[in-house]
Amino acid sequence: EGARRFEVVETDVQSMPEPPAQLMLNVAIPDQAYSLARLPNHGVGLARLEFIINTMIGIHPRALADVTSLPEEVRAEVLARTAAYPSPRDFFVHRIIEGVATIAAAFGPKPVIVRLSDFKSNEYAGLLGGDLFEPEEENPMLGWRGASRYTTPSFAECFAMECEALRYVRDEMGLTNLEVMVPFVRTVSEATQTIDAMAAHGLRRGVNGLEVMMMCEIPSNALLADLFLEHFDGFSIGSNDLTQLTLGVDRDSELVAASFDERDGAVLALLGMAIDACNRLGKYVGICGQGPSDHLDLARWLIDRGIQSMSLNADAIVPTWLELAAVTERV
Ligand code: PEP
Ligand code: MG
Repeated sequence: EGARRFEVVETDVQSMPEPPAQLMLNVAIPDQAYSLARLPNHGVGLARLEFIINTMIGIHPRALADVTSLPEEVRAEVLARTAAYPSPRDFFVHRIIEGVATIAAAFGPKPVIVRLSDFKSNEYAGLLGGDLFEPEEENPMLGWRGASRYTTPSFAECFAMECEALRYVRDEMGLTNLEVMVPFVRTVSEATQTIDAMAAHGLRRGVNGLEVMMMCEIPSNALLADLFLEHFDGFSIGSNDLTQLTLGVDRDSELVAASFDERDGAVLALLGMAIDACNRLGKYVGICGQGPSDHLDLARWLIDRGIQSMSLNADAIVPTWLELAAVTERV
């Protein structure tokens, strides 16, 4: 009496009309992976290691790689926080494995592209022990980030720890739907050095089906696409950095935020170059920046231009999916 009756409606995402490109998800926190996997999706186009490091680790990797070098107080704190693990270094590796494997398992057998770390020095400095190891840079956004870290001796051990964890998820746990992506590669030489360093730590392109993607997010990447693509299975376009660097607009400055537009003709020209190069060479090309999540017209433009996949924010995937699928049906 008085009880309300609820009708349970099972949504059947499998019966949704297919959009004209793969629509993938950007996933941040591993804890959300299983619920996000219930949204319609073709896999994960971008999982940033920074989120796993921030939420599941919280300590600078160099502080974990070499505890003996730490001042007494920091060392005590690091040892206390990592006491449940065989060593502080293992704490880092195990936590990355846990976070990455959770996302890969939640979405498997669909592809899950995990990106190697791309913290800027000011962001690393915020981790426990970070102030001991990080330089103070005037422009961290243009500084020591992405591939330039992996190719610097003082970061080599930290990079080894990341690679070890990803290799374990693929080769030991069998989650071979995991693909790896390299961010912020300025030059072809940085690309080859990174590929060599990954191989030295057991992440070899093609071995056990491993695909390695490169973020296309610096104008140099689109301008010399053919040369970069010799070393990768494809591009995932980072429209956030690509727009920042093409228009010279600081992503972090409110003052110039109005000038930040991924649909500017100069950005579109570079997007077109990157897409064409990949399609011509038979390589993968997706986009994982904010652009198509924020602007449906850009999503449509990318499809017309030949993009193979778009990785969207969770709140954008259903509306974008329905809109794009409807457009194709009308054709
Ligand atoms: C991008 O630059 O578009 C991107 C996806 O990477 P991030 O936002 O992490 O720099
Ligand atoms: Mg970026």
